[in-house]
Amino acid sequence: MIEKLTPAGAVRAYCQDCLGMKQFNTDLVRDCQGDLDPNGPCAFFPYRLGKRPSVKVFRKFCLDCMIGDREAVACCELRIASAIRIALERTLLCSGNGKHRKRG
Ligand code: SF4
Repeated sequence: MIEKLTPAGAVRAYCQDCLGMKQFNTDLVRDCQGDLDPNGPCAFFPYRLGKRPSVKVFRKFCLDCMIGDREAVACCELRIASAIRIALERTLLCSGNGKHRKRG
């Protein structure tokens, strides 16, 4: 079962996977140099130390990963992608004027 994560928690988990850390290490993540990638800066770099990312950050990240294919994003089975999707869903459910809130 996938652990439900907050948006910041999903970035934290992604950074942990990115650097192959068993436990999150703030010093390593702070100095990850994700802003210097020759292919373009990591979308999560500004949020790697706990700043809450907006839903647009996740959307862009997943669409870039799947080269713009929305159906592929919806079908992605990667653990971390699932965590990001949960975070995205939580962000949608928790943001704005409540239009997207599930009614029980
Ligand atoms: S900010 Fe990006 S490059 Fe840096 S550790 Fe996180 S995912 Fe990896």
